[in-house]
Amino acid sequence: TRAHIGVTGLAVMGRNLARNLARHGYTVAVHNRTPSRTKALMEEFGHEGTFVPAETARDFVDALQRPRRLMIMVQAGAATDAVIDEFAPLLESGDMIIDGGNAHFADTRRREADLRERGIHFVGAGVSGGEEGALNGPSVMVGGSKEAYAVLGPMFETISAHVDGEACSTHIGSDGAGHFVKMVHNGIEYADMQLIAEAYDLLRQVAQYSPAEIAEIFRTWNKGRLNSYLIEITAEVLSHTDADTGRPFVDVVADAAGQKGTGRWTVQTALDLASPVTTIAQATFARAASGQSALRTAYRPLPGGMHIPKTRSEAERFTSQVEQALYASKVIAYDQGFTMIQDAALTYGWDIDFGAVAGIWRGGCIIRAAFLDRIRTAHKAAPDLVSLLAEPGFAEEITAAQVPWREVVATAARRGVPAPAFAAALSYYDTLRADRLPAALLQGQRDYFGAHTYRRTDRQGAFHTHWAHPDRPETDV
Ligand code: NDP
Repeated sequence: TRAHIGVTGLAVMGRNLARNLARHGYTVAVHNRTPSRTKALMEEFGHEGTFVPAETARDFVDALQRPRRLMIMVQAGAATDAVIDEFAPLLESGDMIIDGGNAHFADTRRREADLRERGIHFVGAGVSGGEEGALNGPSVMVGGSKEAYAVLGPMFETISAHVDGEACSTHIGSDGAGHFVKMVHNGIEYADMQLIAEAYDLLRQVAQYSPAEIAEIFRTWNKGRLNSYLIEITAEVLSHTDADTGRPFVDVVADAAGQKGTGRWTVQTALDLASPVTTIAQATFARAASGQSALRTAYRPLPGGMHIPKTRSEAERFTSQVEQALYASKVIAYDQGFTMIQDAALTYGWDIDFGAVAGIWRGGCIIRAAFLDRIRTAHKAAPDLVSLLAEPGFAEEITAAQVPWREVVATAARRGVPAPAFAAALSYYDTLRADRLPAALLQGQRDYFGAHTYRRTDRQGAFHTHWAHPDRPETDV
């Protein structure tokens, strides 16, 4: 019997995806550059389903049913290109290569165009949920042709996470759309994590709660509209005690955050698209700032904010304000992510169902959260929704939250507690709701030094003022 699908690259992700496929009854050919990994998979997990181990590329390709479905789970970048170069010459027209790695969407676009010319479907699939998700049900964001999804979709939908009986896998759009949406997912993840971390910091420094008390606050919040995987694990981390010292775990961890790069890609790409994902950007920069130890040493002696002790009841009131600020900022972060996907869809010609995107993020991935259900409903009800805040339900909640949100950002500023993501989200809100922006003044400055011209509110055309002789009539250029 020939295999339904083949997986090459059997490190944690590939191995677990292969096992997930086999456990669901698919016959899975397995291959790895270093054959010992293939052997290890067969020895440890061979009994879980039907695997066809292959040592050479030729054996691997020959083991596959046609049209061949070959999934690559290797390091993104040069390794992925090397593996494509190795296998593509062995494939035939109509065969499919699926890249389930964390590829940059621009690479996926390039590879798809290249392989399409050779008659091969290239499917960039963003796989979220880490090794646990790969094994038990990831969220899968699939790019590439509709024809390829028609063949592969049932397979992805079988092995993905499910929420209310619906699979967390969908066809996002052509070429790089799947990897793009996965990238933005990670950007939103950065923002969500940073916002939660800022909420913790404020509750600790302003309300003077202990990590264990804050864990309880998060557990309470997790029963409401903030219900999410990230809030849940935050409570777990905060209630964890370090075994060596008996101190709260969070106090013994070095406060310099790492990053693997997909958040950074989101921000870099957002600059190219002129997509104002400010909360995601602040979250990414906050990680970078935390690692600037020389700068932090230089700034540390400088004066900070005012200390006004809070009574217990004031602390409780503040806690409720932080919940509102966190919720409002989170809505903004997700909205920014969706806006960025919308901007990319226009640029790259992707026809994206935003409700479906929200739908597949409800399970299997790191940002899974109850409120994605509401985002999904909002987009399903109005497929051309410009913003979540244009939906009456969200608008009402933000209206109710905006005063406490301001209180929290103001308190953070007064007390000298950094809250860059909260502040960025609020500034974004105020920027977009402003009647007039000082961008008019920027246009004046640009016209002054660079004759860049400006448009007027009362007349059509592009104008330039003769700044050396401002009394001379402006020119319509
Ligand atoms: P790694 O990213 O650590 O990659 C290791 C695998 O790549 C091994 O199978 C290795 O083969 C193979 N490889 C590396 N270079 C080459 C090459 N030049 N030719 C052939 N094979 C090569 O593995 P992971 O399982 O962590 O991740 C796989 C992919 O999934 C990556 O793109 C990753 O970004 C993505 N991903 C990872 C997640 C995670 O949580 N880890 C989550 C979601 C996606 P060998 O054994 O011979 O060295």
